[in-house]
Amino acid sequence: MLNRESHRRRAVIVLNLALIAFGGLWFAGSGASAAPPRPPKDLRLYIFDCGTIHARSAEGFSLKNEEVASTEMSVPCYLIVHPKGTLMWDAGLTPDQAIGKPTKTGAIQQGTPLVPQLAAVGYAPGDITYLGLSHFHGDHVSNANLFTKPTWLVRKIERDHMFSGETVPRTNAADYKLLKDSKTILIDKDEYDVFGDGKVVIKSTPGHTPGHQALFLKFKKTGPVVLSGDLYHHPEERTLNRLPINEFNKDQTAASRAELEVFMKKNGAQLWIQHDIVGYEKLKKAPAFYE
Ligand SMILES: [Zn+2]
Repeated sequence: MLNRESHRRRAVIVLNLALIAFGGLWFAGSGASAAPPRPPKDLRLYIFDCGTIHARSAEGFSLKNEEVASTEMSVPCYLIVHPKGTLMWDAGLTPDQAIGKPTKTGAIQQGTPLVPQLAAVGYAPGDITYLGLSHFHGDHVSNANLFTKPTWLVRKIERDHMFSGETVPRTNAADYKLLKDSKTILIDKDEYDVFGDGKVVIKSTPGHTPGHQALFLKFKKTGPVVLSGDLYHHPEERTLNRLPINEFNKDQTAASRAELEVFMKKNGAQLWIQHDIVGYEKLKKAPAFYE
């Protein structure tokens, strides 16, 4: 009797495991995880490796190579987890489906798959509440088509540019084409408070592109931080006061930088320059997080 009972129990366990595995596959296919983690009490930030730009020169940023610590650039993606929801900030380089085929736009760009990194902290693209892109350039939007379920937070001028129907410079419009039908909030405020408590604020910083934006985050332990988008690429642009050569509007970039300095001083925020590979290497990466 004991033997038969233990066999029955084992069969039930095997059946349950099979159901869990099958359920997991079904959910993975639907773009949502079986059960995303419970919201944390305090704001959290996960940093993912979404690629590297192997650049050999800093000339495009009005900098000599000997003036920069590194000509290479990090390409992170970020998941912000707030008690009221989640925000994906930037969608990296090289779409997941094209990994292993680096593209060339001056420098060699190498992507890193994003979906498994999200899964390792318990999320699938379909679980995310909001998508925010600093701007539409290829190294910030390549996985954007994964995020059709989140509500897209974008400025009208940027969206109009992305879907103008003409060739959009420095990006591959096919990489974000599905966003056209996403539920969208057109941001018209200089500062857009995503969750209504001042902890996650998208700040207008035009110039690099018409509707470029940076992200302010107010952490309990880490304190206030601004994610730069491409308002800067190398920290030396800030310390030596240099502007990139190929801006959409250089005067606007200079004005946005000056305005952000005032904003950061007022809020006691530190600046994390997304492409600053030296700074990036020192930061905690997912599954570790800032809070
Ligand atoms: Zn960039």
